[in-house]
Amino acid sequence: MINKINIFGVEYKIEYVDGDIDMNGLCGRVYYDDQIIRIKKTLPDDTRRNTILHEILHVILLRSGLENILTDKDIDIEDFVDILANSLYNVVKSNDILED
Ligand SMILES: [Zn+2]
Repeated sequence: MINKINIFGVEYKIEYVDGDIDMNGLCGRVYYDDQIIRIKKTLPDDTRRNTILHEILHVILLRSGLENILTDKDIDIEDFVDILANSLYNVVKSNDILED
């Protein structure tokens, strides 16, 4: 399983943790100040990968400034990230887009 990821030049450590550790029932969470992404470790493979992608998208939205734009337009960030993560995950999984 991936244990670190570089997003816009910042390296985030990915930790797989028990669901009840500061997760408030969530599957994943970004700790921006500590540069850590925590993922519930008991998730099935597909859900875990989708959750990692979801958390990466949260970082991208925030750091790119897109989150502010969406918020100004009253677009729900969680819905936006969910739809984008599910869609991307589906397309990436269904196609060999990373193969030459
Ligand atoms: Zn989220």
